[in-house]
Amino acid sequence: MTDKDPLRTYHGKRDFGRTREPRGRSGGGDDRPRFVVQIHDASTMHFDFRLQVGGVLKSWSVPKGPSTDPGDKRLAVPTEDHPLEYEEFEGVIPEGQYGGGTVIVWDHGTYRPLSHDRRGRPVPFDEALARGHATFRLDGSKLRGEYALTRFRGGTSDSDGGEAWLLVKTRDDAARKAGRSTPDPRRARSVRTGRTLHQVAAEAQEAAGER
Ligand code: MN
Repeated sequence: MTDKDPLRTYHGKRDFGRTREPRGRSGGGDDRPRFVVQIHDASTMHFDFRLQVGGVLKSWSVPKGPSTDPGDKRLAVPTEDHPLEYEEFEGVIPEGQYGGGTVIVWDHGTYRPLSHDRRGRPVPFDEALARGHATFRLDGSKLRGEYALTRFRGGTSDSDGGEAWLLVKTRDDAARKAGRSTPDPRRARSVRTGRTLHQVAAEAQEAAGER
């Protein structure tokens, strides 16, 4: 991950209040890395938790979804890195394709890496992940506050069950025990469009019928 804004010169030459040229992700003075949580109604319903690390979205499949309750330890199984643009993907992956099913963007925003070494020095986020423990503060529309991702099984293949992590809310002001700490995926709405999985699927089907 880079601390310097690679588009600093580009941004310095333009007033984005006056030009409609693209600002780019790191524009607007906000160069913090992004996160996204998608709900994916594939062969099994799951949440996809993705953190921007460098030029990709590091990804975990979280069957039960992230919880705001620090007492919940949520299994998070690593999946392949996704391109940054995947943050915006909402729609239907055709049946028969990898991950066939409906996807909504449940939450998105930025995060701040928090990992420090024993001397209190910040650890680069990719390094923290490589070591198997990373803490970060989410600033999304729904998810807020500190979370930790911790690798508890370092498998290398499907035959040994593969690598497995836990996603856990840290105790802080944003932690919540009362009420619903995890959204019901079938009722949850897209942070981008307000639609449910069902609505996205129905609209896709309608659009296909019109062709
Ligand atoms: Mn998925």
